[in-house]
Order: sequence, then structure tokens, then C-alpha cells
Amino acid sequence: MKVVSFLITIFLISISAISQTNTPKEFLGYELGERFTRHHKVIEYFQHIAQTNKNVKLIKYGETYEKRPLYLAVITSQKNFEKLENLRLNHLKTAGVIEGSATNDIPITWLSYNVHGNEAVSTEVAIKTLYTLVDSTNKDAKKWLENTIVIIDPCINPDGRDRYVNWYNQYQNSPYNINPDSKEHHEPWPGGRANHYLFDLNRDWAWATQIESQSRLVEYNKWMPNVHVDFHEQGVNKPYYFAPAAEPYHEVITDFQREFQVTIGKNHAKYFDKNGWLYFTKERFDLLYPSYGDTYPTYNGAIGMTYEQGGSGRAGLGIRTSEGGLLTLKDRIAHHYTTGLSTIEVSSLHAEKLKKEFASYFKNAIQHPKGKYKSYVVKGNNDIDKLSSLKKFLDRHQIKYGTAKTTKTVKGFSYLDNSTKTTKLSNKDLVINTNQSKSNLINVLFEPQVKLKDSVTYDITAWSLPYARGLKAYALSNTVAINKVENITVNGEVSGATKPYAYLSKWNNIADATFLGYLLKQKIKVRFSTLPFTIEGKEYAAGSLIVTRTGNEKLGDNFDKIVRRAAKKFNRNLNAVTSGMVTKGKDFGSSTVRYLKAPKVALLSGRGVSSLGFGEIWHFFEQQIKYPVTVLDTEYFNSVNLNKYKVLILPNGLYKKTLGKEKLVELKKWIQNGGRLIAIDRALGIFADSEEFSLSKYKDEDEKKEKEKEEKELKEKLELEAYDNLERKSISNLITGSIFKVTMDNTHPLGFGYDNSYHTLRLNSNHYAYLKKGTNVSVIKSKTDLVSGFAGGNALKNIDKSLVFGVEKMGKGAVIYLADNPLFRGFWENGKLIFCNAVFMVGQ
Ligand SMILES: [Zn+2]
Repeated sequence: MKVVSFLITIFLISISAISQTNTPKEFLGYELGERFTRHHKVIEYFQHIAQTNKNVKLIKYGETYEKRPLYLAVITSQKNFEKLENLRLNHLKTAGVIEGSATNDIPITWLSYNVHGNEAVSTEVAIKTLYTLVDSTNKDAKKWLENTIVIIDPCINPDGRDRYVNWYNQYQNSPYNINPDSKEHHEPWPGGRANHYLFDLNRDWAWATQIESQSRLVEYNKWMPNVHVDFHEQGVNKPYYFAPAAEPYHEVITDFQREFQVTIGKNHAKYFDKNGWLYFTKERFDLLYPSYGDTYPTYNGAIGMTYEQGGSGRAGLGIRTSEGGLLTLKDRIAHHYTTGLSTIEVSSLHAEKLKKEFASYFKNAIQHPKGKYKSYVVKGNNDIDKLSSLKKFLDRHQIKYGTAKTTKTVKGFSYLDNSTKTTKLSNKDLVINTNQSKSNLINVLFEPQVKLKDSVTYDITAWSLPYARGLKAYALSNTVAINKVENITVNGEVSGATKPYAYLSKWNNIADATFLGYLLKQKIKVRFSTLPFTIEGKEYAAGSLIVTRTGNEKLGDNFDKIVRRAAKKFNRNLNAVTSGMVTKGKDFGSSTVRYLKAPKVALLSGRGVSSLGFGEIWHFFEQQIKYPVTVLDTEYFNSVNLNKYKVLILPNGLYKKTLGKEKLVELKKWIQNGGRLIAIDRALGIFADSEEFSLSKYKDEDEKKEKEKEEKELKEKLELEAYDNLERKSISNLITGSIFKVTMDNTHPLGFGYDNSYHTLRLNSNHYAYLKKGTNVSVIKSKTDLVSGFAGGNALKNIDKSLVFGVEKMGKGAVIYLADNPLFRGFWENGKLIFCNAVFMVGQ
């Protein structure tokens, strides 16, 4: 009897433990919408829900740079939950990601919140949505979960969100002030939108340069949802936006993917109509660039969508709109909450259809891949670091590849030549056939030219991987038989003498710069050759690193230990040579072999500087080459003693307010004394307008007059343009991201490690003339250099003879002009060495 009552007690305790789910208000102590919830509290509440509900699984999938945890909640009916792993594996079988045929598959709806940190309503909505799904009194939710799995990511970007929320909590009036002038509606630089390194995570899905994206993709590929929603906010005065998306759609998007966006949109409209809420569809948010939270899932077989609420970092807890209305956090929650639940409802209502279409999407991908090209061949004789980095990228996206089985000669589109060529296949060539689950994604990432039905998109229109990564590659219209790939990495071997005269290393990849940065931090003295040379039967290009024993005597035996350890650590193959006498070129004691002094680097941030542009460089130094950088702020830049630094970097930005005439004169003096200034993208503007520097927008006075006249005429023409044509016409002045094949002077230190041409990603229509006093290392000669992407007609007219990268020597120092930003979004792999050259090689 005692035993029985004991068991009953245990049973009752466990029942009550399960049913004791607190509402958000009970748990947090306030009603959702009354204040912003800090990230750790959100996670605590999610943990509470997982602990008190048997059908919720919490998955920790990573940590941010600031060490905040990243979590997903998976929820479905109790019955499904008991075989969750089985359902997941079956789902992957349907997607052809794992072998076998699916016997039991149900659709998955994935809701991603708060990718932009200061679009802070989203995470509050995630809390409410998860609670609704476990609320035992909610019959609708119960029914939906019977035939669907829901995954909730409450916050993709916790660092950005907490940056916003902590700031808002500090500056909010009590009660909150709805006057848009109030400080609580004006976030300071850099705002909470981006992550720790100020990357926009909604541009990073495909490139996955950031730890949040990298961690998320692992989990994404384990679930491959049928429907994915990315929740956002836009300007305060904008009505709600939901699917269907705007044109242009990428051509690989299937009819069903288009149709289902409409099905979902109609369901949302039903609720919005009932409540009298304003909304719009089919405008502004297109489906092209592959690195968004809607397109990436779309190219992975899902219905990928963006929902936009009016609000963002300006809205706070409440703000007056331009129409005089009031927009509160509670309103914002209500709207996003409605579309979130409506999405789950549609998925459940159409579960069978979703399932069937999902299966046929992948069946088609494998059996009848779309697109002109059926395989992409990356030549085996590319630089090994480039191949190994590509392999990592493909693995991350679970794209399958192999090495060519045959050695026959084939015909295909050559990326380097921008034309059809023949090539003999080699067993070392990496082949990516498109007859696989990731077929559409592969085509979107590799195709040389994106087909644009309509050019009105404000993001980049070209990103093809062989260009971005500087790969010798071919696109073929047939598949190629493949073998399994052996591991592609350098082992970090040192060949030659054990106590050599010098160690030699190549210089043509960012991996070499990481190795160099490490040596410099270990106080190893490094030299580099400014000319090509041959020694012990091996050829070395200009820029190759020479680490002589001479100069490093102080380190004794440690010298060899450190260099050899570094070779292993960074997978560098070094040649240890016994002599400094070369067989071709100049000996190591020649004045053409330079001592590379470790530069002290300063980087400007703050108001006026593009936060994204700054973040790309910050991330580059800290996370990619791991070399120390001192971050300055425009706020106190005027009082900084620049003589402490050798290199100063001005990221993309507008510097009129920071760099007045006086400061420019001071900067010039610092350069003449040996400073190296690196200016990127729009930062060039301040120098083009100044008498102190030779950069100019125009070749000469005549050209200036002529071009100014043209610009004036164009402006007048636009003023008279019919209003509805305006957007289309002004697009004609734009270059928003297209690829040009430009020259590269690889005898100049800025061009070391490159061939004599380079594919640059041009992001604006700014034109700078060739430098008259300086070296034009890389230039666009004419508009025919455009190889991929959209460039407006008017913008192209102005592009002839444009400077891309150039160096103006001044006294002992130099200014390095990078008119195109080689670190843009951290994904243009082949541009990174230019930046390394600017930091380490130029002016030594
Ligand atoms: Zn957003």
C-alpha cells in the first residue's frame, strides 16, 4: 500500500511539474510589450518551457562572439515528439541528403527571429509564440502540431539585440516618450542591427563568415525546413510587409515556391483585413541575392520569406508616426505574432501538399537539375589554399563534389577568359555536379551570370564563386564522372636543411598572411623579395617570404623551433635553403630583398565611418589573420598622436566632418614621415576633393567641365521624368555590385601574389581618374571589362579609365587607394591578399 501511494505521489508530482508552465508575465514579471527582454531572460524562459513541457526540445547550437548562447526550440505534438529523431531522419531522406527512402515525414516550419538586433520586437514575439504552442488551452495550436514540427530561433543575433536593449533601457524615459525627437528614438553609432563584428547577418547566410551563421547552418542542414520565415522590422511609418515577395525572383525558384508564397500571404491577409491593419506585398523585398534569410532557405528547397513590421531601433516602446498615430511595441508584437501563427496554420492545413512538393523539389534537383550548366570544374592546379578553402565552403553547405574520373578534353565556359574554351580534365580537378539535393544552390552560387528579369534590386547582382575566390574554373553543360576526394590541405612540411640559411614561403593567399602575422608576433624578423627568383630549382614569385637566420640570431635554437612550429600550425610548406645565393634573380642580401617591419596598425571607427566597412576590417584582423589592431574613434581622432602608428586605415565612410583641412595637412605630414594610409571605397572622396593629394575624379580641367555638365543635364532630365519611371531611370546611374575583370600590376607590392588580372566587385558608380602621381596598380580600362552582374547604362558611360587600386607615394610613406572594397561582407576571398599587401608589403 505504502509503495502504491508513494508511486501515486511521484506520478502526481511529475504531472504537476509538467503542467506548471508559467505565462510570460508570470515568469518575467511584466506583460510582453511593456519592456524589452534581455537575451539571458529569453533563454531562461525557453528553458523553463522545455523543462515543463515534454514536447519541447531545446538545442544549444552555438555561442556568439560575446559568448551569448544560441538556442533553437523544437516543438510538435507529444506523439510526434516521441519519434522526433526518426521523423528528422526521414525528412532528410526525402531531401536526398541521406540515403534511403522516407517512410514517415512531416513538414517543418522554422521561424527565425531578430536577425537584426535592433528590430527588437521579434524576440518578444518568439516568447509569445512558443508559449502559445505549449498552452494546453489552445486547441488550434494543438491541432497544428499534430502534423507539423515547428522550430523557433528566438534570436539569431543576441549580441546586436542586447546592444540595442541595454542601450534602450538606459535612455528610455519613464514613461516612454512617443515624441520622435526623444533620445530613446535615436540609437548611437553603430546601432544594434549587426552582430559583434558589425556584420549584417542577413547578408551572411551563404558566405557564413560569422560564427552565428556557421553554427546555424550546421543545425539548418540537420532539419532542412519546408517553410522558413525571417522576421524583420523596417521604418516606423511603413505598413506591414509579407509574402509574396517582389521581383526579381531568381529563375531557379520553382512554381510551387512562388505559389505557396501567395497561399501564405492570403492567409495573413485574412487576419490583417479582419483587424483593419495595413499591409503590402510584392514590393521592395526581392528574391535574388543568395545570402538572405529568405533566399538561402529558398535555394535549399524551402518556402523562404521575409516579414517586415514597421518599427526598428527608432520605435522604442512607443512612437508617434508621421500620420499622427501611435505605434507601440504591443502593436508590433501583435502583427508579427499573427503572421507567425498564420504561417504555422498554413503549413498544417497544407501539410500533405508541402510534403509532396518538398519531395518532388529534391527529386527534380537530383534527376532533372535546372540551369544551363550541369557541372562546375575547379582546376586542380589552383593554389592549394584556395582549393582547401573552397572545400570547406562546400562542406558547410553540404554540397557534394568529387575529383574527375576521366582525363578527356571538354568544352565549357572559362571564368578567367569569359568565353567558351576547351580544357583537359585532370584527376586532380574538383568537380561539382548539379544532380544533387543542393542543385539550385550550386547553380545560384556558381553560375557565371545571374539572369535578371528585372534589374530593380538594390543589392549586389553578381557573386559567382570562381570570381570571388579567384579560381581557374569551367562551367560545363554535362555532368562529369567523379571519384571520392582525398583530403585537400597542405600538411605544413619543411623540406631541405635542418639548420638552414633561410626558410622560404610563398605569398599568394590570406593563409600566408596569417602565417606572417604569427611570425611577426613571435618577434621573428621576416624579409620579402620584391622580384621573382629561383633557388634550388624552385621558382618564387615577387612577395615570397624569406626568413633568414641572420637577424634572428638572438633567438638561438628557438628560431628553428618557432618557424617549424608555425609551418605546422598554419599548414605552410616551407623550403629550408642552405644559401642566400639564387640561381636566377637577386640574392637575399640584395636591396631588392626588403626587411618587413611589423606595422603598428590603427583603424578608424565611429560616426561618419560605415559600421559595416569598419566591422569587416576589425573582423579581418582579429578573426582571420589574428594580427593586433588598435581601434580609434572619430570622436577623439584629432587628439591621437599618429606617430605611434605605421598604418592607418580609413574604412568606407564619409570623412568631411572628421578630416578638416588642418587634419588633412597633418595626415600628409605623417605620411611623408613614413606613415601608410589605406583609404577604402567612399573614404577616397575626402582625398579627391583636396589639394593635398593627387587623387581626382577627373583626368583634367576639360574633363571636369564636361562631366559636370553631363551630370547637371542628367539631373535635370531626371527631374522631368514621369514619377512612376523615376526608380527605373535612376537605376541607370547605379552600380550596386557587379564584377569587372581589371588589370593587376603584380610587380608592384600591392599586386604581389596575383596574376596580371583580377576580378573586382564594384559596389558604386564613383569614378576616379588614373593617378598622375602614383602607380595605378589596378584599373578598369573600359566598360567592356564588365563580366557579370548589372551596371546601369549611365554609370557605365562614366566608367572608362577608372582607378580601382592605386598607390601615391609621398616622402617616406604612401597613400593606398582602394576604390573597391576588397573585404566587402568578408566573402570576396580573392581580394583579401590585396588588403594584406596594403598593410604589410607596400612602402617597406
Ligand atoms: Zn531587418
